[in-house]
Amino acid sequence: MARCRCHSRKLEKRCCGPLHAGRPAPTPLALMRSRYAAYAKGLVAYVQDTTHPFGPHWQSDRAAWAEELAAFCAATRFDGLTIVDAPDPVGDEATVTFRAELTQGGRDVGFTERSTFRRVDGRWLYVAGEAG
Ligand SMILES: [Zn+2]
Repeated sequence: MARCRCHSRKLEKRCCGPLHAGRPAPTPLALMRSRYAAYAKGLVAYVQDTTHPFGPHWQSDRAAWAEELAAFCAATRFDGLTIVDAPDPVGDEATVTFRAELTQGGRDVGFTERSTFRRVDGRWLYVAGEAG
């Protein structure tokens, strides 16, 4: 039984697995965790599909973007995820602040980010992040 890569200590099938399989994330926090797990697993299409098209991280050249994401995923170890703050959404807008523990080539590249999310057609999407 695989533990979820979002470091929830839950089984993947009871955590981010169903979201990766297409179920809409019930909350912005669930989406955030599932995106972290998707990065850890190299599920670049999931990262792309949950990025808001009007946000700064969205790229119109999907193939080139996928390559970029895959290179990042392959070069990075995803060591930990700590949720700092996840207030209730206000309408279709929400923020989640988290600390991601990451390592690249033995170097600590962890960071804290305050992400913003927006709900579009019933699905939460990642819009942008700023250093938290
Ligand atoms: Zn998970």
